Amino acid sequence: MNTSDNSNYFQVESKLSWDEYFMLQAMMASFKSKDPATKVGSVFVDQNNRQLTMGYNGFISGIDETKLPWGKDKSQPLEHQKYGYVVHSEANAILHSPRNLGGSKCYVTLFPCHECAKLLASVKVSEVIFLSDKHKETESNTIAKRIFDLAGIKYKQLTPSKELIQSLNDHLLNLTNIL
Ligand SMILES: [Zn+2]
Repeated sequence: MNTSDNSNYFQVESKLSWDEYFMLQAMMASFKSKDPATKVGSVFVDQNNRQLTMGYNGFISGIDETKLPWGKDKSQPLEHQKYGYVVHSEANAILHSPRNLGGSKCYVTLFPCHECAKLLASVKVSEVIFLSDKHKETESNTIAKRIFDLAGIKYKQLTPSKELIQSLNDHLLNLTNIL
């Protein structure tokens, strides 16, 4: 049978690139964060685009969260600010990964701070793909980029298009039959 004459045979393409797919996954992970001010998510994938681990910023695992502060008023001592207790998304993803992360790519919704950059370089990720770089020009950001440059870790910004987000939104609503 000549399939070119059959109307069931036609070319289709995914609406999503792998980069967009994993950035959306990182965005979904960030949605799970309870932080009322900044929600960050990350996803690590191997060379074959298989997801290895994920994380979001949150309090230390296993600690009674009701006893910890979510506020970030720096006029209070660090002991009474969230910064004393929050574990960043990349650190959580690395801590809870069941797999070795050497050579993996890290998709993260916010460019990593220098503390996370140390961890990312130590586990030898190959690339960091980020959504926002809102802390650029800060000392922490500059140090993080220096660490990545010294470690040979590539980094690039990726912003899913508004059309893609709209198309995803339509798709989700359609799946739940509330469009
Ligand atoms: Zn960090």
